[in-house]
Amino acid sequence: FAASGGGLVAYADARAEVAAESPGVAPKKKVVVLGTGWAGTTFVKNIDSSSYDVQVISPRNYFAFTPLLPSVTCGTVEPRSIVEPIRKIITKKGGEIKFWEAECFKIDPENKKVYCRSDIGTNLEGNGEFLVDYDYLVIAVGARANTFNTPGVVEHCHFLKEVEDAQKIRRSVMDCFERATLPDLDEEERKRTLHFVVVGGGPTGVEFAAELHDFVSEDLAKLYPTIQDLVKITVIEHGEHILTMFDKRISKFAEEKFQRDGIELKTGFKVVKVSDKTITMENALHGESSVPYGMAVWSTGIGTRPVILDFMKQIGQGNRRALATDEWLRVRECENVCAIGDCATMSQRKVMEDIMEIFRFADKDNSGTLTVKEIQDVLEDICIRYPQVELYLKNKQMSDIVDLIKASKGDVKKEALELNIEEFKNALANVDSLVKNLPATAQVAAQQGNYLARCFNRMKDSEEKPEGPQRITKMGRHRFLPFSYKHFGQFAPLGGEQTAAQLPGDWISIGHSTQWLWYSIYASKQVSWRTRALVISDWTRRFIFGRDSSR
Ligand code: FAD
Ligand code: MG
Ligand code: MG
Ligand code: MG
Ligand code: MG
Repeated sequence: FAASGGGLVAYADARAEVAAESPGVAPKKKVVVLGTGWAGTTFVKNIDSSSYDVQVISPRNYFAFTPLLPSVTCGTVEPRSIVEPIRKIITKKGGEIKFWEAECFKIDPENKKVYCRSDIGTNLEGNGEFLVDYDYLVIAVGARANTFNTPGVVEHCHFLKEVEDAQKIRRSVMDCFERATLPDLDEEERKRTLHFVVVGGGPTGVEFAAELHDFVSEDLAKLYPTIQDLVKITVIEHGEHILTMFDKRISKFAEEKFQRDGIELKTGFKVVKVSDKTITMENALHGESSVPYGMAVWSTGIGTRPVILDFMKQIGQGNRRALATDEWLRVRECENVCAIGDCATMSQRKVMEDIMEIFRFADKDNSGTLTVKEIQDVLEDICIRYPQVELYLKNKQMSDIVDLIKASKGDVKKEALELNIEEFKNALANVDSLVKNLPATAQVAAQQGNYLARCFNRMKDSEEKPEGPQRITKMGRHRFLPFSYKHFGQFAPLGGEQTAAQLPGDWISIGHSTQWLWYSIYASKQVSWRTRALVISDWTRRFIFGRDSSR
């Protein structure tokens, strides 16, 4: 509970000081937001810009709807249909938010400044650099593609992370087809050129492979009849299966569908080197082997951006992989800085770290033992502070903690149950094993942006502080509840108008009807009516006329 004194707590203190100096008009606090992706944009959309001076910095002046990026690679959806200018989003809020198209390359938490560089700008020194100071900093810069330092990847592979990547892939696919039809090419070379390799069997890699297969079989086969039989798509995955983050039934269905479609799956293979014409991989049984390829897309997961690595070193998180925050999304040991989305991981408090305090807190009569009633009285608060407890009870199919205690103590009458500290510890011993890092998804990023904006909005009109961790007593009705993620399910489009979905409660649905669910949800999730109209008309156009194959 005694987690952290800093962060937002200090925000409110600073506010009070300013107000005392100049009674009447308290100047607005300056909130600087880095990034206009899922996390940053959701934050900006929801923050009360009349109470804060909000300034947004990002090298891209638009928000991109990343779940539709794989569709852009083959022209199912046009790139302009999935982006919304950030200035449009800002203007809708009354235009009080400032935006600068620049990249932050250094964060200085000591002096509360960020160093920025603009590609398009020139200042007196001619390097486009400028400084921005902040009262609060919201870091939402996302992540970058991770190559695991595999040689040749940066030089020869495409990534699929940004809109530009998707556009490049689209051009590159068309180049391969045109190249393969040129005269004076031998059969081997044509085959190589038409070998498309996807490295990484996660949702993005799989969706791209499926999309490409559809593009080839539905559109390109007709246009390139002489070479259509030479096309080959391969997915290379280090693990034993693809789509391992999904239920086994989904990953099995996907593997079987790919087999039927003629997409080659190389599971258990790790790519160790990429050159301009061959990919070298390694397998425990078969050793090293190389295949010629025409185009490769690298999609094996995410890594940390340099600016974040540097910042982590400064604040003593140098040995970590992502920026650590507490459950209020405040960067640990760093005042007035919050981090949301893919660039951060929220570390959840462990029950076992606080077990003595929880015990003392529950033991209202100071008897040194807990009765069932004493535990039940605080259970709700405990579950809010430590969501793993609720999960644990659910997983074990227990109606409440009494069952758990009974299970740990043997068959005793409910009224007679009393636990001392050791027994209490034993009952909760395995609870913390359920603490999991949140996935790097748009869903998490958007919910965090929304949550943080609400925290700021509440902070502004009172001196109330999100002190939650210090006082469990107030947790239940406290206005600054810790962030809790609500999972709405996940889709895996598999091509041929078929999609798999895993919805909450392990509800699985696969097939054509799920594809329609996918269409309707992704249409409804668009940020504006403009992009919604564009996306839907792209889909319609594709249904009627097919995809455009011009370069
Ligand atoms: P991003 O959305 O990546 O935004 C980062 C922002 O920071 C960008 O605006 C960037 O320009 C900016 N930036 C970068 N560097 C700097 C800097 N130095 N200074 C200032 N600004 C900077 N998730 C799902 O939930 N469902 C899906 O179906 C899904 N499909 C996906 C498909 C693809 C192809 C990809 C790549 C991702 C997909 N995701 C999906 C994941 C989802 O896109 C990410 O989890 C989400 O974008 C994370 O949001 P973010 O705001 O943290 O980062
Ligand atoms: Mg963002
Ligand atoms: Mg984004
Ligand atoms: Mg995260
Ligand atoms: Mg007692």
